[in-house]
Amino acid sequence: MIDFGFYLTPSSTIDLDKVDRKAVDDLARADSGIRTCIACGSCTASCTAGVFADTSVRQAILSVLNGRNEKARELLSSCMLCGKCMMVCPRGINTRHLILSIQKYFDGQ
Ligand code: SF4
Ligand code: SF4
Repeated sequence: MIDFGFYLTPSSTIDLDKVDRKAVDDLARADSGIRTCIACGSCTASCTAGVFADTSVRQAILSVLNGRNEKARELLSSCMLCGKCMMVCPRGINTRHLILSIQKYFDGQ
């Protein structure tokens, strides 16, 4: 193995070949924003709830893409649906709709 001067701990390693993509495919049908997000973090930087909790749309989307669905659910549990993140998204993603879609999808499981 090449020595990059750093390494990933086993718990932070994600084997994308083994990730179950069903949630991503299902959610993309409900809101394509899950695929068009560029993980810029503007939503997280402007989040009203982020001051008080670990709320992060960016991390929630990445968590779903990486198969960490429970983490995504946790990250959005304190969202107040104020819509501020929607106003700053450079990709024009309707983050409120995407958040609701993610919450609804995982609450139904
Ligand atoms: S602002 Fe939009 S593109 Fe940027 S991380 Fe948030 S959802 Fe993704
Ligand atoms: S809608 Fe939710 S995630 Fe977006 S800024 Fe408001 S509290 Fe944060």
